[in-house]
Amino acid sequence: MRELEESRWRPPRRFTAAIVDWRAEQIVEPVARLRFLRRSAAYLSDQPVRRALRSAQVRHFSALVLALGLLPIPTVSDGAGLKPTAIRRQTTAPGGLPQKVWQVESTEAQELYSNGLRIEKRYQLPRNEPVPFVRYRVATEETEPRSTPYGIVFHTTESHALPFEETQNGALRRIGAGVLQYVRQIRAYHFVIDRFGRVWRVVPESEPAHHAGNSVWAEEQHFYLNLNASFLGVSFEGPSRDETGQTPVTAAQIHSGRLLTDLLRSRYQIAARNCVTHAQVSVNPENMGIGYHTDWAANFPFEQIGLPDNYQLPPPAMTLFGFGYDTSFREATGERLWRGLDAADLEVQSAAVAHKTSLQAWRRGLVERYRRLYNAVKQPDFSQEGN
Ligand SMILES: [Zn+2]
Repeated sequence: MRELEESRWRPPRRFTAAIVDWRAEQIVEPVARLRFLRRSAAYLSDQPVRRALRSAQVRHFSALVLALGLLPIPTVSDGAGLKPTAIRRQTTAPGGLPQKVWQVESTEAQELYSNGLRIEKRYQLPRNEPVPFVRYRVATEETEPRSTPYGIVFHTTESHALPFEETQNGALRRIGAGVLQYVRQIRAYHFVIDRFGRVWRVVPESEPAHHAGNSVWAEEQHFYLNLNASFLGVSFEGPSRDETGQTPVTAAQIHSGRLLTDLLRSRYQIAARNCVTHAQVSVNPENMGIGYHTDWAANFPFEQIGLPDNYQLPPPAMTLFGFGYDTSFREATGERLWRGLDAADLEVQSAAVAHKTSLQAWRRGLVERYRRLYNAVKQPDFSQEGN
């Protein structure tokens, strides 16, 4: 109702651009705000005022684009920070997928891949029957199973990180082995990247690992309700944050993370958008808050891993299912992720206005949808997850 009143409003001709812009700010719904600005520019004859209003339109349009999550994902321009441009180009195929990475050889202990990646198999669990990966159509809520994973969730093992120094070699190796044994015992992740950059397969990719049970993600037409059932878990050994607030990953871990990500994306045709951190997807159905797990809530080196900065994407748990967040989550995250949170807030507000309902009522409807879907798919191991 409020939008109809706004749309009838005409600025007196003596109004300045600043006043029209101020008035535009009062209009909650971004599309209506843009419409108002365009009409005002056409209505006012004064050239400087029209120019000023055009620049206001550009600003408000950018905000709208951001709110709808339509910003083009920036092209990755840097590799692991090690390679010259000519080499980087060779690693990206058309469509944003990495160029094909293939297996060169496989022994009992190790696999070698064409991009230099080695996968260690000492802690690999025996293969069982493959389990299909599942996603849901947004429009119909029907499931779409397929035999290969749809995405990757990046974790940290939340284990102790000794200073990365030569004198610590023995202890670093002991801690790494202990982490791998534990991960194997609870089937926590598909892959662990230890502090020396060695990549260990633990759970075969054809089976689920317990890495992100209560979690939500989405693409344009599909959503994911339990990423154990649809995404691979890749975990970097170490804590998510040290006393300085940084994530103490080593250069070797980041380098291997890039090679592994390229292999998985190339092998399973995984979109860049579906390569996300645990903090971005983790939810708590008890209090309807996002960020129950906060590993990689900040500092994930998307660019060095060969990915766009996915922190800027609005969390689908908020826009599709009405989840929220509290100040402690905001404190645990970095500025890059705040942009995603702000974009999600704006998107939910815009949707409420577009459906001519209050924000509270709109969110209530989203939460009801989540509860219905969650109860329908809830299984005994649904919420199992590692760190
Ligand atoms: Zn995690």
